[in-house]
Amino acid sequence: MAGTNAAAVLLWTSVALARWPRVSAASSREIQQTLNGLRQQAQLAAQRQEADGLLLELAAEGEALSDEFLANAQQEAALRQEILDAQAAYEAALSAEEAARLAQQNQNNVAGGSGAAVTPGTSGFVAPVDGPHVITSSFSVREHPLFGYTKMHPAIDLTKNQGWPIYAIAAGTVTTAAYSEANGYYVSLAHGSGYTSIYCHMTKYIVSVGDSVSQGQVIGYVGSTGWSTGPHLHFELHQNGTALNPAEYLPLS
Ligand SMILES: [Zn+2]
Repeated sequence: MAGTNAAAVLLWTSVALARWPRVSAASSREIQQTLNGLRQQAQLAAQRQEADGLLLELAAEGEALSDEFLANAQQEAALRQEILDAQAAYEAALSAEEAARLAQQNQNNVAGGSGAAVTPGTSGFVAPVDGPHVITSSFSVREHPLFGYTKMHPAIDLTKNQGWPIYAIAAGTVTTAAYSEANGYYVSLAHGSGYTSIYCHMTKYIVSVGDSVSQGQVIGYVGSTGWSTGPHLHFELHQNGTALNPAEYLPLS
């Protein structure tokens, strides 16, 4: 029994002695390199995980932004609808007598002049700002200057310095005088015969909902509030809910 144990111990020792120098000398460098390699891999994995996390965060942020943009677009559409509804309500309430009175008032303005320094065109409207008129964006499909998407621009943009007076293009009633994220400070007027005019991005308006305004009356001032890249008047003309090309109705110079 004892002899067998002694032989086993001797065998183990000789094998261990034969191996130990190799382990401690030649292979220790390999082990060190392997360990370094593993450490680097672990670091890379951690970095990749961090990058993945960042990408996820960015994707979530992008999604939130596009949601916000969609909400703004929906808000803008809702406001347009509100203006049209107000116009429809006004039209419904407007008596034939009132329409005749407005028509007469506009006729008088054509003959007798008004607050605006321009003469009415054949449509009977005066320009919403004094000339010369620089149209920086016309009634057409265009790329949005701030958001890049393509859509109909149902208006003309007239570039004017901040603070230029904005005139009512015809006698009418104020149906909107409000602030919206897209339009900034804006006013809409109902003129009878289904016409509505809309004036956006004002520094401020000086009329209230329900006010009667005369043709050429100052209703506000040119500004750059809302989604705007510089002082200008974004002007829309609608008839019975359809956007008209203002350039075809206004006496622009
Ligand atoms: Zn515009």
